[in-house]
Amino acid sequence: SSTARRSLKIGLIPADGIGKEVIPAARQAIEALGSDIPKPEFIDLLAGWEVFTKTGVALPDETVDILRNECDCALFGSVSSPSRKVVGYSSPIVALRKKLDLYANIRPVVSVAPEVGQQPSVDLIVVRENTECLYVKQETQTEGEKGKEARATRVITEYASRRIGQMAFELANARPRKHLTIIHKSNVLSITDGLFRETVRAVPTLPAVAGKYDGVTIAEQLVDSAVYRLFREPEVFDVMVAPNLYGDIISDAAAALVGSLGLIPSINAGDNFVMGEPVHGSAPDIEGKGIANPLASIRSAALMLRHLGYVKGADRLDNAVDAVIRDGRILTPDLKGTSTTDEVLQAVLKQL
Ligand code: ATP
Ligand code: MG
Repeated sequence: SSTARRSLKIGLIPADGIGKEVIPAARQAIEALGSDIPKPEFIDLLAGWEVFTKTGVALPDETVDILRNECDCALFGSVSSPSRKVVGYSSPIVALRKKLDLYANIRPVVSVAPEVGQQPSVDLIVVRENTECLYVKQETQTEGEKGKEARATRVITEYASRRIGQMAFELANARPRKHLTIIHKSNVLSITDGLFRETVRAVPTLPAVAGKYDGVTIAEQLVDSAVYRLFREPEVFDVMVAPNLYGDIISDAAAALVGSLGLIPSINAGDNFVMGEPVHGSAPDIEGKGIANPLASIRSAALMLRHLGYVKGADRLDNAVDAVIRDGRILTPDLKGTSTTDEVLQAVLKQL
C-alpha cells in the first residue's frame, strides 16, 4: 500500500528518440516532490531500436526481470521503429505491455481552462484495451490469383473485454459525471466488436460488482461517428472505452483537440504494475534538437503516482504543469512557443 513504502523504485526506460530528452525531465520533476512521496530510487533500463541495432535484442530479459522483481512502477519514453519490417525486431512497448500484463492504457485528455476555475471544454479519459485486437500482430501475405493478398487477425476475447470494461466502469464511477461511452463498430464487425460491446455492457451485472455501478450512465457510439462527435462536441464525452486500435486513434484525435501530442500522458496499468508513458512517439522530426515538450512525460509521472495512491504528489505535478501552460510564456514550439525542453522543465520546477 502507499503508506507502507519507504522508497519508491522507479524503472526508467527512455528508449529512443525524444524519449531520451523527456524522461530525464520527468525524473527531475519527481525528484522535486520531496516528502510528498516515498524517496524515489531510479533504475535505468534499456529497450528500443537503438539497443536492438547494437545487440540484436529490442527488449533485454534483464529489463523485464528488473521491472518485475525490483520496481514498483516505471516510466517509458518512446521507441523508433523502422518503416519496413526488420527481421528479429518487434516493438518492445507492445511486448512489455504483454509480459507485464498491463492490459489497460488510460489516457486522460483535458484542455487547460484559460482562467483558474473555468470549466475545460475537453475533459475525458480514453480507456484503451492494451493486449489484443489487431495488436496480436498475426499477419500473412500470400500470392492470390490476382496478385498479393495480405491478412491480419483481429482477436477480441470476453476475458480481456471484461477486465477493460471493469477498469472503465471503475474510472467512470469515480468521476463527477459518471458517464461511459463504449466505442465499437459492431454494425460491420458484429462478431468481434459485438463481443466487446456486449461484454462491456454486462459488467455492471457481474455478481462481484453488483450495484456498484448503478450511478454510471452508459452510451455507445460507432468509432467513426465518435471521432466526428469528438470534434463537434467534445464536452459530451467523459470516459470512453475502446478496443486497442480504435482507442489509439480516438486518443490521438482527442490530443489534437487540446493543442499537442506533447501534452497527453498515459499509463499502462495491470493488476500488479503501472507504467507511465507519454502518448506521443519518438518524434524523429525534432529528435536531438532539445525542443521536445516534456509536459506529457511529467503528466505521465503524475498519472502513475496517482494510480499508486500518491494523490498529493500527483496533484502538485499536474498543478505545476497547468500553471506553466496557463502562464503561456515558456512553452516549446509545438505549443507555438520558442522555449527549449530544459527551459520548460525549469519553469515546472519553479512552480513546484
Ligand atoms: P513514431 O513512429 O515514433 O510514433 P511519429 O513520426 O509518428 O513517430 P510522433 O512522435 O507520433 O511521431 O509525433 C507526431 C508529431 O507530433 C511530430 O511532428 C512530432 O514532432 C510532434 N510531437 C510529438 N511529441 C511531441 C513532443 N513531446 N513535443 C513536441 N512535438 C511533439
Ligand atoms: Mg506516431
